[in-house]
Amino acid sequence: MTWEITKHELDKQMLLVNESLFALGNGYLGVRGNFEEGYPEEIPSIRGTYLNAFYDITEIQYGEKAYGFPETGQKMLNVIDAQTIEIFLGEEKERFSLFEGEVLGFSQTLHMKRGFSERAIHWKSPSGKEIKLTFSRLVSFTQRELFAIQVKMEPVNFSGPVRVISTVNGDVQNYVDKNDPRTGSAHAKKLAVTKVAEDRGTIVLRVRTFASGLEMACAATHAVSVSCECHYEQDEQKVHAIIDFKHGEPVSLTKFAIYTDTLRHGDHIAEKAAAILKSMQGKDFSALLREQEQYLATYWQAADIEIDGDPKLQEGIRFNLYQLLQSVGKDTASNIAAKGLSGEGYEGHYFWDTEIYIFPVFLLIHPELARHLLLYRYHILDHARARAKEMGHQKGALFPWRTISGTECSPYFPAGTAQYHISADIAYSYMQYWYATQDQDFMKQYGVEILVETARLWLEVGHYREKDGKFAIEDVTGPDEYTAIVNNNYYTNVMAKYNLKSAHKFYHWLKETDDAYFAAFAARLGLTDEEAASWLKAADAMYLPYDEKRGIHKQDDSFLDKAVWDFEHTPKDHYPLLLHYHPLTIYRYQVCKQADTVLAHFLLEDEANPETIRNSYHYYEKVTTHDSSLSTCIFSIMASRLGEAEKAYHYFIETARLDLDNTHGNTKDGLHMANMGGTWLSIVYGFGGVRIKENGFFLNPTIPEQWDRYLFRLTYQNRKFQVEVARHAFKVTLLEGDALDIHIGGRTETLKPGRTVTRPISGL
Ligand code: BGC
Repeated sequence: MTWEITKHELDKQMLLVNESLFALGNGYLGVRGNFEEGYPEEIPSIRGTYLNAFYDITEIQYGEKAYGFPETGQKMLNVIDAQTIEIFLGEEKERFSLFEGEVLGFSQTLHMKRGFSERAIHWKSPSGKEIKLTFSRLVSFTQRELFAIQVKMEPVNFSGPVRVISTVNGDVQNYVDKNDPRTGSAHAKKLAVTKVAEDRGTIVLRVRTFASGLEMACAATHAVSVSCECHYEQDEQKVHAIIDFKHGEPVSLTKFAIYTDTLRHGDHIAEKAAAILKSMQGKDFSALLREQEQYLATYWQAADIEIDGDPKLQEGIRFNLYQLLQSVGKDTASNIAAKGLSGEGYEGHYFWDTEIYIFPVFLLIHPELARHLLLYRYHILDHARARAKEMGHQKGALFPWRTISGTECSPYFPAGTAQYHISADIAYSYMQYWYATQDQDFMKQYGVEILVETARLWLEVGHYREKDGKFAIEDVTGPDEYTAIVNNNYYTNVMAKYNLKSAHKFYHWLKETDDAYFAAFAARLGLTDEEAASWLKAADAMYLPYDEKRGIHKQDDSFLDKAVWDFEHTPKDHYPLLLHYHPLTIYRYQVCKQADTVLAHFLLEDEANPETIRNSYHYYEKVTTHDSSLSTCIFSIMASRLGEAEKAYHYFIETARLDLDNTHGNTKDGLHMANMGGTWLSIVYGFGGVRIKENGFFLNPTIPEQWDRYLFRLTYQNRKFQVEVARHAFKVTLLEGDALDIHIGGRTETLKPGRTVTRPISGL
């Protein structure tokens, strides 16, 4: 059961949320779970089809502008719509709509093992005609350009004709909330149709963005199970296929749509889309389903987590892992947007969410996909170099806080550009990749350069203090967006320290491993041993603010001097605070939107002693609202680390079903991808006690009281292994690869092929 998400009735209040939950995608192409037949005017729907990284440039308007503010942003576009299939019954051509007549049966299911979604409907028209309809749809994992819909129609009590109008529509725009003044309609329409054609049943449309110059195309065709009459009608923006079935017999119709774009397919995208369509001739929907199932069998083999004793959470973790796969970009031009391909929230932008919350998941279940995510950052390195210059730095790379194509898109710098930590987060993920794969070629070609350019940034932005010679970093914002532009944010400083050390280490590693390569590399970047030494010096002198009285690391120099937010008198409906208080009001208090110092203690736990980590957790827990969906998972992991099982479980629940239960109230705008990654992290890093460090792989499992057993599988240094945790003991089994030493609860154990290591659960 837990391989499917099913809604058994049509809940009109939940239509927009369900459009996100039932979104389909493959990392390249995403389609929201809209109804093929459409909606009446008064029923809101966010009808969307997206291509990852396919964007237009938007103008950013400031009331008051200063030097270095980005002038333009980017917006992932809602592209050509191939979802529409309308159905008309009988001579009277009664139009099928779930909002008229009577819905005698309804279910909507997402099949996570089989890779498709399905709507099964029994409908009675206003005049009494009954029909059973099943809409199945898939976005192919094996042919990334393909979106297919199959409609089965079975008249129940009439035998007259049935007409189907299937449309491919280039007259599309991004979603505009008429009640939200922030979304002006000027920003919505961004595509001009440049080609509309129909030739022997193949429909082809091509569109071009207004400003970015990107183009995309869609080619579509139909296959039917019984004879019919078909003709086409078109205008400048769309083509309708009008298909008439004479008798009221069971009919199946499949629509195949192929999407191409100039970013991924180069020139002649319309011809290429048509050619791909042609190459698929003869494949029916069930053949496509078999391919989906095969692909997913491999994915789940590596990724699945089994939880016994908690079906709701089992459903949650599978849903999240499924949606992550559907959203993650699999080419270097794209990454994973904050909302994946399931909605338009955050305009399809990529954030640090990738490196800290999502990349670690793929790293240990699908390293190849993790590699793509890193390569994307390498691919935008020149933009990051240019941005560093623009921000007044002589050297180094400052990665954009939010972007699609690589340039900074954040108009609000206190919670945008000021989050310099993103550059250290990227460096951190490269190091994690190194530990988990030992991929020398990759580090040589890409990794060292990223480490070096990000390290350079810290020397540019920080300085040695006169009073104590410590290296300080001023005027930045840490992960917690309720505290902005501060000095010595602990998270930023400790991550920068790690970044500097890593760059120093890999500079010398490259020098020692490949002299000739190193020489060319150092010459290209103008690197010297002195410069590398300066990174280590800064790292060693890095100032990490500490509060003796409380025994915690200060979130930043001033955080603990502020008054604590008056939580007691803050009405429940005033959360999230950002919707009810001016940023300045929030900045003046000790109040956190999300994990900040606590997150630093998770990522770099060896930088603080266990007592400090414990104290920090308890201190910051009291002032954290978790208004960001990136927060509870970190508190869950750290509660596990501290042996606070009840809290770990509590925070885990908050994380695992956030979208399925719409607990943040904004799932309609798209799914929360970082939180989805966080669910996996809470299990594997939290309950499982996994850590990936320079000195190896660490494991220290516990089990929540509510569970009987759980199991996860990991891919690490070319091995695959499985960890199965029961109430009192756990087993680790090497499934593939050579023997490997890992650290289990303080001891080193050798995993050997075909052997299972069994150990009691020791807790801490
Ligand atoms: C969070 C950021 C996050 C962004 C996108 C914000 O609400 O505070 O940390 O990167 O959402 O998910």
